[in-house]
Amino acid sequence: MTAPGTSPSRPRRPSRLPGSGSAGQVAALLRASGPMTRGELGTTMGLSRTTVSATVTRLIEDGWVDERPSTTTFTGRGRPPTLLALTQQAGIAIGVDLGRSHARVVLAHLGHEVLAEQALELHESWHATAAVEAVEKLVDDVVAAAGVDRAGIVGIGLGLPAPLDTSGHSASITIPPDWMREDPARALSQRLGVPVVVDNDANLGALAEARWGAGRRSDTLFYVKASTGIGAGLVLGGRLFRGSAGTAGELGHFTVDEDGLVCRCGSRGCLEVRAGGPALVAEVGHSRSGINNVGDLIAAARGGDLACTRVLADAGETLGVALAAVLNILNPDRVVLGGELGGAGELVLASLRESLARNALSSAVRSSSVVPSQLGRRAEALGAVLLVLTEAERFTTQPGPRAKGARSPLTQGHRSGQQAHGHQP
Ligand SMILES: [Zn+2]
Repeated sequence: MTAPGTSPSRPRRPSRLPGSGSAGQVAALLRASGPMTRGELGTTMGLSRTTVSATVTRLIEDGWVDERPSTTTFTGRGRPPTLLALTQQAGIAIGVDLGRSHARVVLAHLGHEVLAEQALELHESWHATAAVEAVEKLVDDVVAAAGVDRAGIVGIGLGLPAPLDTSGHSASITIPPDWMREDPARALSQRLGVPVVVDNDANLGALAEARWGAGRRSDTLFYVKASTGIGAGLVLGGRLFRGSAGTAGELGHFTVDEDGLVCRCGSRGCLEVRAGGPALVAEVGHSRSGINNVGDLIAAARGGDLACTRVLADAGETLGVALAAVLNILNPDRVVLGGELGGAGELVLASLRESLARNALSSAVRSSSVVPSQLGRRAEALGAVLLVLTEAERFTTQPGPRAKGARSPLTQGHRSGQQAHGHQP
């Protein structure tokens, strides 16, 4: 995944990306896995070199696949291998991260190249219609910025800040923001006429960090999104673990103090009540003015403010208490701290590691590295793009919202639409 960019259009277009046969298999693999060499395609699919070569040649001739130089250093003999990737003609994936105080939209094509990205800050008090309208506007903006046709959108992945059940609906009445009661996925799908699939925002952040960020080459990744709320996602062997009811990873509602303040979930002393953004800002409010959000807090700490530094260190300490249980039970090889607190780096991570060392089994601590997010605020929206790329069966054409025969209960909306122009990330 690289920075946004544009590239030349191709002139002629067959109407539909192959969905079956060896060409369909190659296209599906490139969509899910991103650019690959011919050798990797053959090995992964168990196809002969001749079959791969003939199939790829046809896909290139029809404009569905193009070649790009490999970025890895080649030390072998002969020509360095080139990477094969789907082109922009194969379709557009949109990822949306709709949070309590922000919306971010990323547009990529199925060749794993980001073409455009937009974000805006929101007010928590906003209405559902305003939230959906804001996202639709951002989608229009990224479509225009990338110079693509909206008809090429094959699906939208939508990250939401709440525990979701396996039907894609909120598993809690009190945790989600008010605008989630109006089913933003359905509204967005109806407005844009494309399938919209929802997932928990921290799950999507985990997916993106595992593929493109600080979780690469990790087999058991635990991603923490610590912002206004605190959520987490677990990626095992490259796949998200959602739990039996879909709500795995609700780290923010882990009890760290049974006598603590009551949480919006109804429990007492949840991690979120102690280390969520509003709690941290409120804590320094007694002694500091002008600290209105976590960004202010981090900036002040970096500027040497001892009170803000202490609050962030304490947040790391408290996070460590909850994460010690995660380390003991799941033994992840990597913990990635994302969300706004991830941006604090060692101001939080140093005390978090110390807390883990005190509270978790030493073997679990030794086998796990604790690192900051690499994708930062983009993680959740990029994960939403990955949802479209890797779970293609959830974005299939349907006659209408919630039609019978839908491949997944989480898929909403209708229409497929595959066609565009040009090429790569
Ligand atoms: Zn709670």
